[in-house]
Amino acid sequence: MPKTALVAGGGLAGIAAACALADAGWIVRLVEARRRLGGMVASFPDRTSGGEVDNGEHIAIEACTELYDLAAKLGVADRIRRQASLCIPFIGPDGSRSNLTESAISFLMFRFLSLADRWRVARAIRRIGKMTDAEISHLDSIPCAAWLEDLGQTPASIARFWDYFICPALNEPAERASAALAARVLRDAMGRGPRLARFGLFKAPLGTVFGDPAAAYIALRGGSVQPLATVKKVAIAGGAVKGLEMAGGRLEKADAFVLALPHAELADVFPESAPPLGHSPILNAHLWYDRPVTDLDFFAMVDSRVHWVFNRSKLSEDRAPGQHLSFSVSAAHDWAHRPAAEIASDCDAEIKRRFTAPAVLVRFLVSREHRATFTSAPGTAPLRPGPKTRYPNLFLAGAWTDTGLPATMEGAVRSGRAAASALAASASAT
Ligand SMILES: Cc1cc2nc3c(=O)[nH]c(=O)nc-3n(C[C@H](O)[C@H](O)[C@H](O)COP(=O)(O)OP(=O)(O)OC[C@H]3O[C@@H](n4cnc5c(N)ncnc54)[C@H](O)[C@@H]3O)c2cc1C
Repeated sequence: MPKTALVAGGGLAGIAAACALADAGWIVRLVEARRRLGGMVASFPDRTSGGEVDNGEHIAIEACTELYDLAAKLGVADRIRRQASLCIPFIGPDGSRSNLTESAISFLMFRFLSLADRWRVARAIRRIGKMTDAEISHLDSIPCAAWLEDLGQTPASIARFWDYFICPALNEPAERASAALAARVLRDAMGRGPRLARFGLFKAPLGTVFGDPAAAYIALRGGSVQPLATVKKVAIAGGAVKGLEMAGGRLEKADAFVLALPHAELADVFPESAPPLGHSPILNAHLWYDRPVTDLDFFAMVDSRVHWVFNRSKLSEDRAPGQHLSFSVSAAHDWAHRPAAEIASDCDAEIKRRFTAPAVLVRFLVSREHRATFTSAPGTAPLRPGPKTRYPNLFLAGAWTDTGLPATMEGAVRSGRAAASALAASASAT
C-alpha cells in the first residue's frame, strides 16, 4: 500500500513538497486555505481591464535553479521571460542612462558611480564570489552595510548600486539586512559570473502560473488538492501526529505531514516550531498610461525611493493600447500606509522626470502585501528551524525555514523539497 502524506499550505513550498512526495510514490493531499494555490505568488482580478493584476513583481534570476526545475516539471517554464543575456538599464533623474550587461566594460562605464567606486565594487564582487559557506555563516549577526563598508564600499555605492539588488532580494536595505543573507544572494547571483544574474520575469498573471499545473501534476500521480481548507491544529497521539484538525472540526489523517504555512500562521497551528521572525512589507503601484512611455522591459530608477519599474504591457505581451507600468517598492515600511493617490502621483512624477513621452496617467492601483516576507535582519539564522520537528512524521517547509536564503521563491521551493526528502528518509528508516 502506498503511504499517504498531507501537505498544508499551497504556496511554492507546499507545491514543491507535494510534487516531490508524489514523485517518490506517496499519495499526496494538499490542503490550502485560499481559493487557489500559489501563496504569495498571486494576482487579483482587475475590474477595469477584466484581467488580473499581480500582487507584486516577482523576479527569478538565473541562479534560481530549483525554481526553474519546478517550473519545467510543471510545464510552465515558458511562462517566464528569461533574458538571453544580462542587461539592466539604470536611469537617472535627468533621463541619463547606463546599462549593466555581461561585459566588464559596461561596468567601467557605469555613470552613476565614481570611477573609484566602480573599482571598489568590482573588487568586492570578486571577493564575494570566493566566499565559502562557513565565511558567510559567520556574518549572520552583522548588518550588511557594515560588512560592505569592511569590503571598502562607500555610502554612495551602497545607495546607488548594492541596495538595488539587496533590497528586492532581502526586502530590507543594506543598513537593516543580515550580511550573511546578502552575501549568500550576492555570491550566488553575481560572484560566479553575470550569467547567473540574468532576470526572469513572469509573463503573468502570477496567480495562474503554478496553481492549476501543480494540482494536475499531483492528481496525475494519484493525489488531490483541496482549496478553501484551513488547518487549525495539529492532533498528536502516542508521540506522533495522527492528523490535522481542520476548520469545521474534521480531522484529516495521513501517515506523514508537512506544514508549509507562513510563520505567522504556524504560530496558531503548531506554536512550538514558530520562530519569532518579523515581517517586511512590499508595495506595488500599477500605473496605466494612455500611450507608451518606454520600450524597455524594466529599469532601475537611480536616486528614487522606487528602485524598480516593470513594463507590464510588454512583459505580459498585452496588446491593449497605452502602457501598464508596475513600480516595485521593497521594504515598504514607510510607504505601506500612504494613500494610493499620493503614491501614484510620486511614481508618475519619477516617470515624467526621466522620460519625455507626453504620456498621460489614466488610472492607478496600489497593491500592498504587509506580510510579504520575514524580516531578513541580522541574527535571524538561529531562529529558522530546519524541516524536522520533534515528531517523526511531522515536517516544516516555507521560505522562512532554514534555507540560508532570504524569503524568495527559490528558498520556498528548496524548503519544500528539503521537507519531502526529510519525510521520505524518516519513513524509510522506520
Ligand atoms: C509582493 C511580493 C513580491 C515578491 N517578489 C519576489 C521576487 O521578486 N523574487 C522572489 O524570489 N521572491 C519574491 N517574493 C517572495 C516569495 O513570493 C515568497 O518568499 C514565496 O512565494 C513564499 O512561499 P511559501 O510557500 O513559503 O509561503 P506562502 O506563499 O505564504 O504560502 C503559504 C500558503 O499557506 C496558506 N495557508 C496559510 N494558513 C493556512 C492554514 N491555516 N491552512 C491551510 N493553508 C494555509 C496560504 O494561504 C498560502 O497559500 C515576493 C513576495 C511578495 C509578497
